[in-house]
Amino acid sequence: MTGDPREDALLWATLFRDLGVEVVSPASRAAAGAAVVAGEMGAGAAPGAPARATDFALRDLALAVDPAAALETLRAEVIGDCRRCTLCEERTKVVFGVGNPRARLMFVGEGPGADEDAQGEPFVGRAGQLLDRIIVAMGLSRPEVYIGNVVKCRPPGNRTPLPEEAATCLPFLRTQIAIIKPEVIVALGKTALEGLLGPLPGGITALRGRWFETQGIPLKATFHPAYLLRSPAAKAPVWEDMKDVLGRLGLPVPAR
Ligand code: URA
Repeated sequence: MTGDPREDALLWATLFRDLGVEVVSPASRAAAGAAVVAGEMGAGAAPGAPARATDFALRDLALAVDPAAALETLRAEVIGDCRRCTLCEERTKVVFGVGNPRARLMFVGEGPGADEDAQGEPFVGRAGQLLDRIIVAMGLSRPEVYIGNVVKCRPPGNRTPLPEEAATCLPFLRTQIAIIKPEVIVALGKTALEGLLGPLPGGITALRGRWFETQGIPLKATFHPAYLLRSPAAKAPVWEDMKDVLGRLGLPVPAR
């Protein structure tokens, strides 16, 4: 592999073709070059752009050797000025995700709020400040971990993302996970958990604290920081969850 995600994508394309795996239409392949990644799936891609080609591009990004470059290609060229669902109509900025491209720990939230929409970064509002304090209490720092969301555009009025919006955006979160390959993922709230796992019986109070798995990675369910702002008593169980996460990562639990 070259280290250049576009070059890598082409190399993988050739490899798959040579293996007889028909993942991209002949027309797409003929377009060749960076077009496989940047053109068809790129900025302004129309709804209904060939799903198989998208799968192809996303898989190639996940296989790229340089996670920072792969994330940047995903952000700038594949997602671009995304118009794949109606959330694009009222958003200010696409909120891609932030943090260490090689993070051992990844947090997944629901979707951007007003502050995130304005700044283009996840968890920068009050809930984000609380998440930062949780991360620091764990002995970690925000730049050490990775933070993303189930949807990358703010749902109007901060409503919960609709299942079809979450489903449209999910391949991008999945690709971020595949690129970063965290050792543990924390789902912040039920929407994040269900965004990754699909519908689950029971509320978050029953689900939190449990381990699940997604993309072969252990997934811890916990409360959303916005809930902790409303219900401070819920901070204690979240700390129990974070201690579990630290244990899974083989990291010490800092004294509090
Ligand atoms: N809540 C979320 O779920 N995500 C954010 O980025 C901010 C608030």
